[in-house]
Amino acid sequence: MLTEFHIGIDDTDSRLAGCTTYTAALLFQELASGGFKPLDFPWLVRLNPNVPWKTRGNGALSLHFAIEEEQLGEVKKVVLAIVERTTDLTQRATDPAVVFLKGRATNRLREFSARALHDILSVREARQIAKGDHAEVHLLKGSRGLVGALASVGADFDHDHTFEIMAYRTRENIGLTRRVNLDSVRQMDILFRGLTFNNMDPETSRVLICPHGPDPVLLGIRGEDPSSVIRAFNQLEIDEPIERVMIFKTNQGTDAHLSCHRRIETLRPYQSAVITGSVSDSPRIVRGGHVIFRIHDETGSVDCAAYRATGSVRETALQLAPGDCVTVSGGIRPQPLGELTLNVEKLDLTRVVDTVRLENPSCSNCGNRCESMGKGQGFRCRKCKARLPRTSRVEMLEHRKIRVGVYLPPPRAHRHLTKPASRDGIRRLTSFETSNAYIDQNLESLASISIAS
Ligand SMILES: [Zn+2]
Repeated sequence: MLTEFHIGIDDTDSRLAGCTTYTAALLFQELASGGFKPLDFPWLVRLNPNVPWKTRGNGALSLHFAIEEEQLGEVKKVVLAIVERTTDLTQRATDPAVVFLKGRATNRLREFSARALHDILSVREARQIAKGDHAEVHLLKGSRGLVGALASVGADFDHDHTFEIMAYRTRENIGLTRRVNLDSVRQMDILFRGLTFNNMDPETSRVLICPHGPDPVLLGIRGEDPSSVIRAFNQLEIDEPIERVMIFKTNQGTDAHLSCHRRIETLRPYQSAVITGSVSDSPRIVRGGHVIFRIHDETGSVDCAAYRATGSVRETALQLAPGDCVTVSGGIRPQPLGELTLNVEKLDLTRVVDTVRLENPSCSNCGNRCESMGKGQGFRCRKCKARLPRTSRVEMLEHRKIRVGVYLPPPRAHRHLTKPASRDGIRRLTSFETSNAYIDQNLESLASISIAS
């Protein structure tokens, strides 16, 4: 009798990003080569990016296998051994957690996972749900990782998902410059446009597939399906040995964290939120060049911050006028004095109002422009000295420089979850791959990528 068996692992290392994906890759390959049947590719589940004690990546991983009941004990042992071996417990912020779930996730667990995308959840609630759903919990140090581990098991990719192929470096190269030919990345980007995304930043030509710093990830290519990311990967010229490659199914590039519309009065720190409202007053520029604009709905008002790095989002925000209608998405940050600010990740301008400027009238005698006689006073013609009352000012329609539309930061400023403009209108449905042949076939072509021995 085969049983669905799900394994959730939280971000096992908050400083060296990418380590948890490595743990998951190792585990997946270990189990698959041991003859266990994967139900899907490993899942890389990005959770609320605005949780302050997590890195921006806030990722958790889950593995999904069909396993004989009597082999469950052996599988659990393998999992815990590998997680322990690949986790640096000396890192202060590392609180790895592992969750085992037999059978399919309940609706309660799925609902918990959905909230973990945009809210701050407590370890207490995670414990209750794990207990109620008979999920087995293993904490290697603190308990904070439980939220992510549990959420990754109940993740829901039914509304959209993408894939990422990741290549890992051999131990001796970790920390050295990544030897990936940049021209080959540019070519790959052109060849696989539409099938992959965020390979390069178009404005700066910066390569975005390689992380920086001493983590084991050499590169990751994000795309729409497994075979496209494998083919894109094979297009690259790489001048260093590769330790292993793995494909992850993920919610990256889907805007999954921006699914919760909230009223302003319900906002809490560190949520990810979508708010619809009207602009209250003229935007202002603060130190650092960031643009602040205030919006209101029927329940209250809140400042929105468009950071310098957000490019067209900031440029558009600067041109907003009172009365403009917007839907803004982003993270809620607490300010001193208890105020909240929404850091704008996406700006949807839905209505641009007409703005008028009051101009001095022309003289009714000679047609010349009149001058004001002082604050609150009427007007006087410069030439014939005729006088006009204050009420004779004329309303001139101002030229608005902005248009209705959705504004996103440039790819270099994207978060993992940001849906890039190139994915507009694309949604990939269904959680689990229905065809085993499809998984097997892609795993086979993955295996044909040459790996350093
Ligand atoms: Zn005149």
